[in-house]
Amino acid sequence: MLYDLIIIGGGTAGLTAAVYAQRGGLKTMLLEGNVPGGQIVSSPELENYPALPKVSGVAFTQRLLEQATELGLDLKYEAAAELNLAGPVKEVGTAGGNKYQARTLIWTAGLNSRLLGCPGEDNFLGRGISFCAACDGMLYKNKEVAVVGGGNTALEEALFLSKICLRVHLLHRREAFRAEAALQQRVQQTPNIVLRTPVQVLAFEGGKRLERVILQTAGGQEELSVSAAFLAVGKVPSNQLLANQLLPEELDEAGYVTAGEDCLTSLPGVFVAGDCRRKPLRQLVTAAADGAVAASQAIAYLH
Ligand code: NAP
Repeated sequence: MLYDLIIIGGGTAGLTAAVYAQRGGLKTMLLEGNVPGGQIVSSPELENYPALPKVSGVAFTQRLLEQATELGLDLKYEAAAELNLAGPVKEVGTAGGNKYQARTLIWTAGLNSRLLGCPGEDNFLGRGISFCAACDGMLYKNKEVAVVGGGNTALEEALFLSKICLRVHLLHRREAFRAEAALQQRVQQTPNIVLRTPVQVLAFEGGKRLERVILQTAGGQEELSVSAAFLAVGKVPSNQLLANQLLPEELDEAGYVTAGEDCLTSLPGVFVAGDCRRKPLRQLVTAAADGAVAASQAIAYLH
């Protein structure tokens, strides 16, 4: 079957694009290689999406998914593995060996969690090192845990874990946090969050599971005994597959696609939306806006 539109990635941008495309009359398929929702599913509570305060990331995703599928979206749980986007028919091969075709394509592959790259990290991924407090926090009920990072994600994770765990050590490489002031204030007011700044994580150690983090502090090296470490040190764009389809100048030095607010790429009929696009603000609301813009561009291109 030749679709009007294939969307790659089922985060907020991709699902919003699906809603707009279906309502615009496009026969649309969405490929998602993991769980729908993207990064937001690990957010226990959204506080800044307009008119929807205090909704969980999972609940938000569920409603958006229902909205898109009720409009007739063809959702497939497959990862894109191969692209051929140069011609008027865009071809996508999946990891499972399927091939799909469409007249337009929206790339919304989002971001992956950044790693610290220090010794022991690979050993304890999934065995004490986690990227998602909402998913794994309960495993560490009444235990001591660490959160690494100083952005919004790190502070939100620390606040979430503080309600479950005995103590949360927030480890950040600088004195100043880049998280928004309201979050910083709440963290400072939470008695069982211990701020450790500036510290650098040198290594993760343990047996079968993580048992301690080795830190470089101003006073020297230190061992911090924890049952888990939640890494929140930023994200890297998942644009590797798209990169060889675009011109070299369409990716910046960090790997983000340099498409503007119109979400256009140099390839006719190919659009990019969401966090994998270079932009000044990566939030749920800007991801949703990108999805709407990219779908509108696809509709205009086909008409
Ligand atoms: P981020 O804002 O990029 O913060 C990453 C943090 O990790 C920074 O504090 C950074 O330290 C630290 N870091 C990076 N590399 C490191 C390394 N190698 N070793 C040690 N520390 C390292 O990432 P984020 O918190 O995941 O947020 C990503 C985007 O999503 C942001 O735009 C954020 O505003 C948005 N977001 C918004 C919300 C919300 O509005 N509620 C929630 C979550 C995320 P430095 O500060 O020293 O660079």
